Amino acid sequence: DMSDPVVTRFAPSPTGFLHIGGARTALFNWLYARATGGKMLLRIEDTDRERSTDAAIDAILDGLSWLGITWDGEAIYQFARAERHRAVVEQLLAAGRAYRCYASPEELADMREAARREGRSKLYDGRWRDRDPAEAPAGVRPVIRLKAPLEGETVIEDLVQGRVTWQNKDLDDLVLLRSDGTPTYMLAVVVDDHDMAVTHVIRGDDHLTNAARQTHIYDAMGWQVPRFAHIPLIHGADGAKLSKRHGALGVDAYRAMGYLPAALRNYLVRLGWSHGDQEIFSTEEMVAAFDVSRIGRSAARFDFAKLESLNGHY
Ligand code: GLU
Repeated sequence: DMSDPVVTRFAPSPTGFLHIGGARTALFNWLYARATGGKMLLRIEDTDRERSTDAAIDAILDGLSWLGITWDGEAIYQFARAERHRAVVEQLLAAGRAYRCYASPEELADMREAARREGRSKLYDGRWRDRDPAEAPAGVRPVIRLKAPLEGETVIEDLVQGRVTWQNKDLDDLVLLRSDGTPTYMLAVVVDDHDMAVTHVIRGDDHLTNAARQTHIYDAMGWQVPRFAHIPLIHGADGAKLSKRHGALGVDAYRAMGYLPAALRNYLVRLGWSHGDQEIFSTEEMVAAFDVSRIGRSAARFDFAKLESLNGHY
């Protein structure tokens, strides 16, 4: 129900430091929750067991605290919820909304090659969708795929990007469980956002197509799809993708360079969002003025000189 209180979340993968792009995403989620009298939750997406580290978790928690970004309740650790993710897949299988796929790596490679040749963006041809499981090859552990809609379109009314439309014939039957039984990101993020009663998903626009695919899982479960706000990524001053050279450093690096948290926060809030030509905001002013629908659609450019000059104000 759209009159429910706003619940946002910041959902970092603890595979590295809290970089400025992540810090800005956290800040926007925090501001939107504060501006609407809602809550911001924190979910540590530690399902990639090889790449997730305790050091990265500490760096994220420290970075947020240093920036003054607080979350409501306890942090949720995604990996601890794997049983719940698998239970949802059992429900989808039982309802005929998901299926076991036994395609071999060679078959998948052939399908990808055929898709490339024919210029199709859909890579998997659905060959196990309606096949009798009795035909399953012996000794092969299947992946579980969602039965995505074959026809029609998927539409998202994004609070930043506006209306975005995909043709369903271009979207694959996504993998929900890998053959070793571990949940994919696509599955985990939907189940967790649903269970945490998240109303607004504010994140980088590199997740926009994921959002379309995620709506298929919400629909298959009969769950309400949250509102999405996909914010443009931060680019370097030269317009190229942000790299270390451009300032894609950890929040801890800025801290070590002597930047003040209020200056960095003030700088980040103005990256992609504006309120007239006001440059300096107190926390209260930021909260009062912030509106997710006023985030711009074009990539913001990171500019050290501006950050430097802002730092001088504090
Ligand atoms: N854990 C994902 C990431 O760090 C974000 C997932 C999301 O916000 O939906 O990119």
